[in-house]
Amino acid sequence: MRKCLRCETYMVEDLSIMVSNGGYGIDIREKGLFKTAIEKIKCAVCPECGYTETYIENTDKIKKLLNKEK
Ligand SMILES: [Zn+2]
Repeated sequence: MRKCLRCETYMVEDLSIMVSNGGYGIDIREKGLFKTAIEKIKCAVCPECGYTETYIENTDKIKKLLNKEK
């Protein structure tokens, strides 16, 4: 479980960031047009201080990008 970086309270995870008015979530993509999404961004919120952070669940594709650059 994620702990808040500010106050070390356990965060509420697996939340979604939505475009206002009911659109889609936000995802991470490689640079360039028509690249497929690497992963949808999720969000965790600290119930104590409200600190909000974004993260991705599966980091495999990001790790592959890292290897591509070497
Ligand atoms: Zn906090």
